Amino acid sequence: MKQEYIGKIKVNKIEEYVDRLDPNFVFKNFNNDIIEKNKSWLIPNFIEKDTFLLYFSFHSYLIETPKHRILIDTCVGNNKSRPLPNWNMRNSDFLKRFKQFNIDRNMIDFVMCTHLHADHVGWNTLLDNGKWVPTFPNAKYIFSKKDYDFFNNAKEGEQGYLSMIDSVRPIVENFQAQLVDDNFAIDDTIHLDPTPGHTPGHICIQLNSDRERAVFTGDLIHHPIQINKPELETNFCFDPKLAVKTRKKFIESYVDQNITIFPAHFSGHTKGIIKSSNIGNIFSTI
Ligand SMILES: [Zn+2]
Repeated sequence: MKQEYIGKIKVNKIEEYVDRLDPNFVFKNFNNDIIEKNKSWLIPNFIEKDTFLLYFSFHSYLIETPKHRILIDTCVGNNKSRPLPNWNMRNSDFLKRFKQFNIDRNMIDFVMCTHLHADHVGWNTLLDNGKWVPTFPNAKYIFSKKDYDFFNNAKEGEQGYLSMIDSVRPIVENFQAQLVDDNFAIDDTIHLDPTPGHTPGHICIQLNSDRERAVFTGDLIHHPIQINKPELETNFCFDPKLAVKTRKKFIESYVDQNITIFPAHFSGHTKGIIKSSNIGNIFSTI
């Protein structure tokens, strides 16, 4: 993704890594006919040509407004013990990539997490002398209170249990967390949009500047194929039926609106718009 401006707000993508995932691992009741119908726009950016494996990018967005520097979602992180092999004890140069934007981690004012799953909170912390400390020492971390309350009660072995220990609670204990409700706004350019289903407190983040609009969609939509088939349920949702309902409503209200979508896991050019076409709604990269 090239640098983007939404009005006066600068947006860059900082990539951690790109995975290739079996659609049957990601979706319930998956059928390759869906790919056949959509392959003209899914291949080669979003699906691997010969295997039909799904590309899944893990990235953060760095936003610079005239007043603030904000990081949206913080990927998987380094040195974290996780059950998924590709997430376990990673050792990437993610933090070095800030340098290309002439920013270091001390300059981030806000970290915003669309939800509190392990691949959205990982770089909240880093390991320093055996202790998890905030990666962004001068930032306020914005967490949905609904998600925090939910994952705070996760039991050992449940989704979110490990990441609460090493990536969320250390932020709270260091007095850097702000637990917010659905109508939180940083200022008149950035506010939240509740989109429950994937997690109870999942939020999208809305940008408005100089009459231009964009939205960071987190895991409301995991893969572009769900723009055409929003009823595809993933295996990682707290309430898959509610996730489908929320996704359908979102796509219906954003189709042909020329509002830039910044998804959390779309690979390649990543950003785009939702367009109607003769095969139904599609994601068109811009
Ligand atoms: Zn995710």
